[in-house]
Amino acid sequence: TMRILSGLQPSGRLHIGNYFGMMEAALKLQHEGEAFYFIADYHSLTSIHDGKALRSNVRDLAIDFLACGLDPEKCVFFRQSDVPEHTELSWILSTVTPMGLLERCHSYKDKVANGISASHGLFAYPVLMAADILIYDADVVPVGRDQKQHVEVTRDIAIKMNETFGQGLLKLPNPRIREETAVVLGTDGRKMSKSYGNTIQLFEEPAKLKKAIMSIPTDSTPVESPKPVEGSSILALYQLVASPADYEAMVADFEAGGKGYGDFKKRLLQGITDYFAPFREKRAELVANPEYVNKVLAEGAEKARAVARKTLERVRQAVGLGD
Ligand code: ATP
Ligand code: MG
Repeated sequence: TMRILSGLQPSGRLHIGNYFGMMEAALKLQHEGEAFYFIADYHSLTSIHDGKALRSNVRDLAIDFLACGLDPEKCVFFRQSDVPEHTELSWILSTVTPMGLLERCHSYKDKVANGISASHGLFAYPVLMAADILIYDADVVPVGRDQKQHVEVTRDIAIKMNETFGQGLLKLPNPRIREETAVVLGTDGRKMSKSYGNTIQLFEEPAKLKKAIMSIPTDSTPVESPKPVEGSSILALYQLVASPADYEAMVADFEAGGKGYGDFKKRLLQGITDYFAPFREKRAELVANPEYVNKVLAEGAEKARAVARKTLERVRQAVGLGD
């Protein structure tokens, strides 16, 4: 059977970039193979140094993921730090990882350019991510485009490990990227990212959701004139949540002129609200049942750890650690 793996950082709340970039595919794949999905709290230590905030983010994100339809009967859902084997494998992998491989990673440079401090952990992030993937012998990794390079790095590291310690030691994963939603842009035109504060969150309070959408920058085309369709972030976002007919209608209104951006933003707000309404209901149920969420994460940790331990033992054997 196909093994699927993906993770989400608890660096903030779930946003529509995460949803359409990764989660939608992950939810589908949980019915097509053996899926392992996790909350990447070790990774979030690269951007959050506030214990209380991190722990509460983990909880919120777990609830968010479940509210979107993750089924803990169908997949293994866990918190990364409950499986510390990831970090041990990461260390072993780091000893065969060429510096140049990490120096070429865009994500590190992008994050530093966007104000995240340039720690060793942030630089070594792709190695931990390689461990996250390789420890489950994953075949497929559903991700957004920003993570494509990291999956390639994972493959390179696995190849190096296999050359060094024996062919077949680690399985080479493949990224699964949906081109139409590979990069969802945020309210400021950069890639939508939790750590950039430019997100449209799935479970945002209505007033704040409205504020986020109204803050999307637009050009100064007068109300009566046709609006440029090409490159419009309002249209790009609307296409994600609207029916094809509603989307075409908005494109036609852009082209016709006579309507202002405020009007289009209101339709976008409505579209997003309607699209995620059932998830909101589910979320409210989960919030009222904290014991259930604890149980899901505890059981997930146990199942994940059993698999991770086996892989780690295989690697420890091969590299000469322990007896
Ligand atoms: P951070 O800013 O802390 O890196 P993030 O918003 O980038 O957070 P991650 O947890 O790093 O979210 O990524 C989770 C998944 O969502 C990854 O598969 C990533 O590729 C995908 N993803 C994140 N942002 C986008 C986006 N704007 N468009 C499409 N996919 C995205
Ligand atoms: Mg990210």
